[in-house]
Amino acid sequence: SLANHHAVVTGSTSGIGLAIARAFAREGADVMINGFGDPKAIEEERSRIESEFKVRCVYNGADMSKGDEVEAMIRDAAEKLGTVDILVNNAGIQFVSPIEDFPGEKWNAIIAINLTSAFHSIKAAVPGMKAQKWGRIINTASAHSLTASPFKAAYVSAKHGIAGLTKTVALELATFGVTCNCISPGYVWTPLVANQIPDTMKARNMSREQVINEVMLERQPTKQFVTVEQIADTAVFLCSDAATQITGTNISVDGGWTAQ
Ligand code: NAD
Repeated sequence: SLANHHAVVTGSTSGIGLAIARAFAREGADVMINGFGDPKAIEEERSRIESEFKVRCVYNGADMSKGDEVEAMIRDAAEKLGTVDILVNNAGIQFVSPIEDFPGEKWNAIIAINLTSAFHSIKAAVPGMKAQKWGRIINTASAHSLTASPFKAAYVSAKHGIAGLTKTVALELATFGVTCNCISPGYVWTPLVANQIPDTMKARNMSREQVINEVMLERQPTKQFVTVEQIADTAVFLCSDAATQITGTNISVDGGWTAQ
């Protein structure tokens, strides 16, 4: 059980992050959710987590592209819930374009949100974890932390970066009871994936069905999308006692993608 633990999950108003926050709450942890979206919908989700799982759930709307807001979010969680001992860096965006047309501001935004935000949140959360001699840092990486696909220059760079950050932090914290791992999903059916279909259709001159079957599921030997619940339960496992000696690893949940 994760009772008496306090988790922050970035980018948890949707998709994988929301599933992770809900799974932690199901296990009894208090959670801070974060991300963008319709304020009413976010408030409904927040209060649903509290009533469904009988835990505390608070929301912080920090913009993961702004380092000072990221660090303030960790302080806010510590004040409202107690020392943050589980941190999931999950917020992420995607942009698909040939590199010669790739807008510089999209590159900067992806590096800031998908990579640099984790530097700031880890930096802010580590002192509390070290003092308690217990902590779990989990970064949502991607199959694209291990392999590349064309037209995703910024995303692949950021995800390779987060895999390296994961290993470095694991080594620094190894004797403090704090583990740091990343989870690398293949294609998971979320808004992030659905929304990149139109641009991929354009970049590759394909139909919607061709993008799904010939680009996305073509990479996944199981020919199935990963589910958000499967990623969330992997995160729960990484917080369990069984995972105490698992640190610095990159756990693929990708239907065999990176075995190829
Ligand atoms: P999603 O679009 O459903 O959710 C992304 C979340 O991040 C949302 O809550 C959104 O509000 C939040 N977010 C975006 N920009 C933000 C910002 N500047 N500040 C704060 N929050 C912000 O996407 P998802 O598929 O659930 O992706 C979650 C993570 O999983 C990402 O890091 C993504 O790269 C990774 N991932 C997804 C897949 C997939 O197939 N869906 C595969 C591999 C890795």
